[in-house]
Amino acid sequence: MTNTLYDALIAPHADNQAVFLDCDDGTRWSYADFVGRVAQLAHVLRTVGVGVGDRVVVQAPKVADAIALYGAALQAGAIYLPLNTAYTQGEVRYFVDDAAPSLIVCDPASLGEMTELCAGTDIQVLTLAMDETGSLSEAADDQPTTFETAERGPDDLAALLYTSGTTGRSKGAMLSHKNLLSNAVSLTDLWQITDQDRLIHALPIFHTHGLFVAMNTALLAGAQVRFMAAFDLDNVIAEMPRSTLLMGVPTFYTRLLGDARLTRELAENMRLFVSGSAPLLAETHTAFEHRTGHRILERYGMTETNMITSNPYDGARIAGTVGFPLPGTEVIITENDTPVAPGEVGMIEVRGDNVFQGYWNMPEKTAEELRETGFFITGDLGVADKEGRISIVGRQKDLIISGGYNIYPKEIEDVINDVDGVLESAVFGVPHPDFGESVLAVVVLEGAGQNDLEIGAEVEPHLARFKHPRRYIIVDALPRNTMGKVQKNVLRETYST
Ligand code: ATP
Ligand code: MG
Repeated sequence: MTNTLYDALIAPHADNQAVFLDCDDGTRWSYADFVGRVAQLAHVLRTVGVGVGDRVVVQAPKVADAIALYGAALQAGAIYLPLNTAYTQGEVRYFVDDAAPSLIVCDPASLGEMTELCAGTDIQVLTLAMDETGSLSEAADDQPTTFETAERGPDDLAALLYTSGTTGRSKGAMLSHKNLLSNAVSLTDLWQITDQDRLIHALPIFHTHGLFVAMNTALLAGAQVRFMAAFDLDNVIAEMPRSTLLMGVPTFYTRLLGDARLTRELAENMRLFVSGSAPLLAETHTAFEHRTGHRILERYGMTETNMITSNPYDGARIAGTVGFPLPGTEVIITENDTPVAPGEVGMIEVRGDNVFQGYWNMPEKTAEELRETGFFITGDLGVADKEGRISIVGRQKDLIISGGYNIYPKEIEDVINDVDGVLESAVFGVPHPDFGESVLAVVVLEGAGQNDLEIGAEVEPHLARFKHPRRYIIVDALPRNTMGKVQKNVLRETYST
């Protein structure tokens, strides 16, 4: 039997005694133990009636069995569907109605809610707790440690991963075995990940970054993973001297920089720091280099496409850019469906084996965003330089159109962020009766002190008048979703009056 992802990521480790997962409680899973556990869980899936092509919804704590369950879904030919642990019962209902799974795995604490939600359906519910107990784990313990792998080809679905819902309702991205494997191969190669690496894994595992970018590359390379339940500053700092790799969102890096223990010496053993999921401020990049000697490698991707571009491993990692298209991935920048010249802003479109198969149950949306030529219209605006290096300007949905002018929030945010005393900012448009939209800015200060007039006086000389924010609203923190992404739709709603 062939099974594209299982054969590449898991089967080769059947006799590998090296450590795969090194967990918070000191438990260390060898690769070989992991392969056995995957098989045990695959038996459980079959026993409760999960067939080939069925969806398995997982809203569970970040424990080793949750990763093994991902492997089990692959081995059993099912479609893995992880959900943000922060989602409430009402939110979960949307995903369950949409995806029609045959099994839900949840925290024992939500068993009551899930059972209620599944009443009158055939959906099974099993539990997985933070301490690895629960009905799923218990059922697995007595199962055989080998399982006859289900046949799955490159074009079969491996996962149904919902987008983060930053711009609207989450959409289910159908990801095939080939989509995931091609990206894992490209990234492992490009970032030179090997079995000598030890990855600090502090990201959630319900998102493309923590699940596919981090786990698939580690599995492919046979790397060791220091598997942390969550980002914990003390823990990450303690692990750095014996680790080589960190994959993070920008807030990991700002939080590390806020701690005096982050030094060149602490990061001496580290080989690579990767950032993605949201824009890394150029000043974070620079400050990190000054403090540690490491230039953070920023990459860009999304649920629908896996990773699209990356700064080079050898070669210039430039702050504020997301680098070059990955091998096998084509990127074009278009306006009105036609490619624009280098230096001009346009829509980022991407084509390659990494690009998803379409949105689950949304044929119209799929047809709108996935062209017949294979290019996916990302919704992100960007610019390429003459060498093909890409910078992201922002999301098209966040573009402000005021008095007929296109205003790119990032350009204004960059100027505001340069003002002394400003920590970060978000610029967005609100409806305006004459201009269509007008520009507002929310600003987070480093300490108390600055007022809006002072910020305006420093910002305005750098920007054409039509780009000047009408108000600077000082806030304690920007509204972010659980992936650290700034929710401009929330800002627009809050301040549209
Ligand atoms: P939704 O599509 O539901 O609104 P979302 O787009 O935030 O949510 P994800 O697929 O998790 O859901 O995120 C992908 C988006 O994250 C990209 O389209 C891009 O806007 C942003 N992104 C990812 N990496 C970077 C980066 N390095 N710099 C800037 N933006 C990034
Ligand atoms: Mg999106």
